[in-house]
Amino acid sequence: MSIPAYHRDCYLTELTADVVTIGEEDGNPFAVLADTLFYPEGGGQPADHGRLGGAEVLDVQRRGEEIRHYLSRPVGEGPVRLELDWSRRWDHMQQHTGQHVLTAVALRDFDWRTTAFHLGAEWSDIELDAPRLDRADLYRLEEAVAREIHAARPVDYRTAEVSDFERLGVRSRRLPEGFEGTVRLVDIEGLDLNTCGGTHCRSTAEIGLLCLLGTEPMRGGTRVFFVAGDRVRRRMAAHEDRNLQLRSLLDTGDDKLSEVIALRLDREKELARAVRRLGEELADVAAATLCADDAQLLDAHWQDRDMAFLQRVGRTIAEAAPDRRALLSSESEEGAIFLVVAGESSGLNIGEAGSAIAAALGGRGGGRGTIYQGKADSLRDRDHALQILRDA
Ligand SMILES: [Zn+2]
Repeated sequence: MSIPAYHRDCYLTELTADVVTIGEEDGNPFAVLADTLFYPEGGGQPADHGRLGGAEVLDVQRRGEEIRHYLSRPVGEGPVRLELDWSRRWDHMQQHTGQHVLTAVALRDFDWRTTAFHLGAEWSDIELDAPRLDRADLYRLEEAVAREIHAARPVDYRTAEVSDFERLGVRSRRLPEGFEGTVRLVDIEGLDLNTCGGTHCRSTAEIGLLCLLGTEPMRGGTRVFFVAGDRVRRRMAAHEDRNLQLRSLLDTGDDKLSEVIALRLDREKELARAVRRLGEELADVAAATLCADDAQLLDAHWQDRDMAFLQRVGRTIAEAAPDRRALLSSESEEGAIFLVVAGESSGLNIGEAGSAIAAALGGRGGGRGTIYQGKADSLRDRDHALQILRDA
């Protein structure tokens, strides 16, 4: 293949080409073509998708000199119809061309060099060798990019010898060590000339809009997240939908959303504290009521209590009535929990008694000192457990 169709014309969406090699790699059928519309993953840009004959093109990768099209099912050799998933490609062209403008402006106006680019499914990022960017930096960078988009600079291609790069002012990405010969250059008129094998819009105007989303520190630099083109509208629509839901849920306007949510969260924390205090008071009352009974073996069951409640009741009993034993339990939708209490002078070995009770309930647990706690699927055999505690 001399110059593949995706390089000759980034806007070509259909083509007939010959399948020249077919094969299988790790169980995935692939085809190599005499010419192709499908961009193979590289330079931070993901592979194109589409259809090849009746098969779906799931991935496209370079393997040495070959471009392999990984397919949903095998195809035969000979001529085949190629159809590009244009919405995916167009999106990639907008993000990728946007990245070129962002990178060029960051270097020209701020002296921040781009060290990496990653085109993601939701957003993309570039890595800059700038130590830190604040909100004002991002705003200035975004504004400068917007001006270059408005300038509708034509994007074109040419080739050059590596030896001419310096004279031409080419911004070169990593070329293989010792590489010599002719390289494809992307020329954004008056803004940037650089080595790139990706697919691009024909004018910066087609980027439409580029929005910087935020930054993240990384080793020796800063990662800058962005969206460009039609993604900006989709993201804006998603934000609007979310805000509409929040406005309706919280019964307030956009400008008050954060304030109202912060107030609600504070209130929730206060309520959680109040519920915890009430739970503790309830546990203390429950323990006192149990201890008021003369029986040596105390027995209580509640619905929907947590382990913290049982523990507080159990600890209080062990301190207030060290000669008693107790079985405390609770059941909820999540299953059953139980607590065995043996006061210091109750004459009970808590480990042995607890294990025997856990086994009787078909559950498991652990304990030391005066408390053994455990979980079980149900309390069907609770009477049996009580008998064990009585006899131990
Ligand atoms: Zn490019």
